Amino acid sequence: MPIHELAQLTWEEVRDLDREHTLVVLPVGAIEAHGPHLPLDTDIVIATAMARAGARKLAARGRLVVILPALAYTAAGFGAAFHGTLSISAITVTALIVDVARSLSDQGFRLLALANVHLDPEHLTALNEAVKLAKTDRLLPIIFPDLTRKPWGTRLGDEFKSGACHAGQFESSIVIAERPDGVRETIRASLIANPTSLSQAIKAGKRTFDSAGGPRAYFGDPAAATADEGARLIDALGAILEEAVNAEI
Ligand SMILES: [Zn+2]
Repeated sequence: MPIHELAQLTWEEVRDLDREHTLVVLPVGAIEAHGPHLPLDTDIVIATAMARAGARKLAARGRLVVILPALAYTAAGFGAAFHGTLSISAITVTALIVDVARSLSDQGFRLLALANVHLDPEHLTALNEAVKLAKTDRLLPIIFPDLTRKPWGTRLGDEFKSGACHAGQFESSIVIAERPDGVRETIRASLIANPTSLSQAIKAGKRTFDSAGGPRAYFGDPAAATADEGARLIDALGAILEEAVNAEI
């Protein structure tokens, strides 16, 4: 089945979609500092790659998929002190996603899936809240595979599991695979690994990358990233999205 980018369609083409059987995917990212070697839109690049990989798998099994333009702004408090990060309040993010879900529901779509790899706790709360509100308001169900919850995170490599997963090997590999021109290669290759676990620091009450032990806004091992690993990870993210959707329908 075909995969459509909603923004590229005309309204009459959307009118003619078999909407009852169409799955809508919203990539959700952030404009946030990702080390000295990755662009601010790293999470948007990765979420879009996840959405497309998931869509390919779902389309191969006969589902019609429409991908929405990515949401680029969200809560990013951990990176807020770094130049270029644009953090907005969680309540705005929840409201925006619920409003998009309402509009899709009004047009007869039956399912919305979120593709997301931005793990700021406030942001994750905002997405989980949107899932709940859509249910309360009887909108179309929002499916959100939260990578910090089981079983998803265990499939994304050792660095991800260790929690040292911001702009390190995991994210750098995906950006190298997906948009190599965006990576500052000389800087990346020179970075010393920072094995500090961001997820442990979050549990310990830290609220910024700096206080969590990432003064240059990266954790993990960017120098160890490869395009091959990136391609594997994109496939794994797509499989997560596919499975989360299939579990719901
Ligand atoms: Zn990221």
